Amino acid sequence: MRDLAPPLAARRARGLYRGRRVLAGPTAPEVSLDGRVVLNFCSNDYLGLANHPAVVEAFVAAARRDGVGAGAAHLVTGHRFAHHALEEELAAFLGRPRALLFSSGYMANLGAVGALFGRQDVVYEDRLNHASLLDAAEYAGAKLIRYPHADVAALAERLSTAPAGGERVVVSDGVFSMDGDIAPLAELAAMAKRYGAWLVVDDAHGIGVLGDGRGSLAHCGVGMEDAPILVGTLGKALGTMGAFVAGSEALIETLIQEARTYIYTTATPPALAEATRVALRLVTEEGWRRAHLQGLIARLRMGMQGLGLPLSNSTTPIQPLILGTVARAVAASEMLLARGILVTAIRPPTVPEGGARLRITLSAAHTTEQVDRLVETLAEVLI
Ligand SMILES: *Cc1c(COP(=O)(O)O)cnc(C)c1O
Repeated sequence: MRDLAPPLAARRARGLYRGRRVLAGPTAPEVSLDGRVVLNFCSNDYLGLANHPAVVEAFVAAARRDGVGAGAAHLVTGHRFAHHALEEELAAFLGRPRALLFSSGYMANLGAVGALFGRQDVVYEDRLNHASLLDAAEYAGAKLIRYPHADVAALAERLSTAPAGGERVVVSDGVFSMDGDIAPLAELAAMAKRYGAWLVVDDAHGIGVLGDGRGSLAHCGVGMEDAPILVGTLGKALGTMGAFVAGSEALIETLIQEARTYIYTTATPPALAEATRVALRLVTEEGWRRAHLQGLIARLRMGMQGLGLPLSNSTTPIQPLILGTVARAVAASEMLLARGILVTAIRPPTVPEGGARLRITLSAAHTTEQVDRLVETLAEVLI
């Protein structure tokens, strides 16, 4: 048995040791950390729904009625009215025939890619795709070919020289989770079509935020014919937990038969689905949340530009401030925290070497005053 301590010590020495902060209270702009209230700029609760009274109330009422655990997997006895209704509502919202719930985005990606592709197939992935998408290709046993970030010409070159035989699939984040930029989805779709490849889009950070809430595909005007497999998560803008795949009748029925991360796991609590149904209704009805969020994004970017800080080309609530070295990113994060502002430093291997950063995320629950305070504090810490 190998000794686990030396690698941990080495990791600590490189400043790459990962630890957890213990927070108290709901997901909100102000959170309680070690008994102190701090301003939170690192949740993915983009629309401020995680602690919305109507979402909470739906969860509590459903738990009182239906209990907590679903008791079994969907194909046994775990599939309840609430799950089924949420799937139908998600499908209708996205304009796709069917949607299938998964317990998490990680499981949806593994399940979908693993069910549809295998050893004889080739998966083309953006270098900055989420870890779960890269893992999904490996899990499927497919040949994985990566292409430089958002580089459609480089993808085309790889598609044109790839070995024949088997299926080919282009896989991309809709919005890149550490950079916030939107994938060139129309161009990716055109390229996939040209080479007879599938297109899988993981829109964890686009659903609820872009395209009137319908996500990055709607934002880019790409429909189901060109992007047949859409993965979305519920733990970000929808403020709850879980994920879904949306697509054709045949796609969803195939996943029900074959996706192992769907079949061999307990269904999520029905109350969670009831809460998500309310969140989805709020996504549809309360467009002001997206409008306010866009205002905050513009305000933060203007503030950062005024300070001469490097701006990314993100137009989404993910606004990375790339500082380069791990030491610089960690020091900035600590100095912000000392001033009551929580922004986590993101380090390799989550981001490329030399790309350590503060990953600032905004929420519709933030006020303009809170964003102004962030900008003022960034000035104190970095200028
Ligand atoms: C967060 C995220 C996931 C994982 O979703 P979970 O529901 O948290 O497991 C998958 N893909 C992307 C792009 C993500 O950002």
